[in-house]
Amino acid sequence: MELDPTSSDTVMCGPHALLPAPIPRKYFYQLADVQIYINELLYLISKDYDFIRETLKSASVYDDFTGRLLNILETTLKEDIADAGVLALLRSDYFLDGSIDEMLPKMVEINTIASGAGAIQSNLTPVHKYTTQLLGGRCDVEKSLPANNNIEQYSKAFVKAWEIYNTPKAAIIFVVSRTERNVFDQRLIEFGIKKFNWDIPIKRVTLMDIGSKGKLSDDRRLIVDGTEVAIVYYRDGYIPSHFKSETEWNAVFMAARSRAICCPNVSLHLAGTKKVQQVIAKPGMVERFISNPDKVKAIRATFTGQYSLDIGAEGDEAIAMAITSPENFVMKPNKEGGGNNIYGVDIRTKLLEIQKTSERNAYILMDRILPVTVPGYKVVSSTELPKLQNMVSEFGMFGALVSDGNDVVLNEFAGHLVRTKPKILYTKDVTLPAFTRNTLEASNYSAPPRLNK
Ligand code: ADP
Ligand code: MG
Repeated sequence: MELDPTSSDTVMCGPHALLPAPIPRKYFYQLADVQIYINELLYLISKDYDFIRETLKSASVYDDFTGRLLNILETTLKEDIADAGVLALLRSDYFLDGSIDEMLPKMVEINTIASGAGAIQSNLTPVHKYTTQLLGGRCDVEKSLPANNNIEQYSKAFVKAWEIYNTPKAAIIFVVSRTERNVFDQRLIEFGIKKFNWDIPIKRVTLMDIGSKGKLSDDRRLIVDGTEVAIVYYRDGYIPSHFKSETEWNAVFMAARSRAICCPNVSLHLAGTKKVQQVIAKPGMVERFISNPDKVKAIRATFTGQYSLDIGAEGDEAIAMAITSPENFVMKPNKEGGGNNIYGVDIRTKLLEIQKTSERNAYILMDRILPVTVPGYKVVSSTELPKLQNMVSEFGMFGALVSDGNDVVLNEFAGHLVRTKPKILYTKDVTLPAFTRNTLEASNYSAPPRLNK
């Protein structure tokens, strides 16, 4: 009988690396510490509405998605509405930039919405301990494979935020897609919350459910299908295609106008955009939000160059640089969810196409990181045995922050995620011939494929 791979009767092995990805111990713990400062930084940015408004003004002209979120933020500010508290669940992603002899962790991006996959990956640590031992690993696996406490840390933050909302019958709702693929990751967090407190009601809903069955009470409580909502946890709603109609937008708008704690709230969602991250990487910008010089130094050490492409002299300079040597950069639209970035000669093509229009304001440019490669095996559901190949790993460090509306009551590192992929997608040997019109067509360099969040 043919098996239907999408049927719930069929069990497939989730793709994973057979062996753990190495990272120098000092970097792992350094990034775990820095995450606490990054939590604080993003929280402070999210409270600086003028900064968010000013930073995203030009990008939002072309980028309707960002524009809509800004409009929702404006409305809530005009109506002087505040959530009962703040729940920030973040993930900062890094590559080890350089070679095995000389490398530094460099940040790829910070995620402020739907920062997931840590719960399901925490199950991989025991698998990696086992495979390392089976293969005769000479390291002390207990010491060398740190426990991944993402489920416990996320759950603790949820419980704290739920207590701040302070209504025993109010639920945490997980906002998921109708065809959700990350259900096992999400369920582990749900069970983790229940372990802390069995009485917290938890429901899984779609944006459509909230938009069609939700309402606001006179005192701005969000009621969905008869249940009051304490926390709206978005695992959906971060890319335009999640919004098929105005009903989904109404859901986000209603949640933002309620006193429910949205994870993230609209301003924290906007604080996680590529444009804000590019502006924050400018000299002096972290300092605007954080005064402790040691924290500033630790955060800045993880940054790599980022450049505005906005109309004006600074943007023109960045465009000239990228057209001359596109292999050194990544061009990013102000979007989430993987698969949007432009690489190599495509940067040149795109910039030549849009350099005279304000569409360029909806992109940023970033120094291309060339990650360290390590041989390894990728295990996928297949009849073929995995092959040894060069792999690169992106290290994600989770953070959790909770505020009661006035003070930060929890700010912690919250586990890790490692995504290991074949190096072929990040080859260092992407050298482009000198620029001529013909070389644009002749290049066969193609961008990395879409990666799941
Ligand atoms: P998204 O929100 O789509 O996840 P990212 O900034 O994480 O956006 O980019 C997607 C992927 O592109 C990353 O996972 C990484 O593999 C690659 N990438 C992003 N920025 C860089 C960079 N500066 N250098 C090299 N690769 C990058
Ligand atoms: Mg990413």
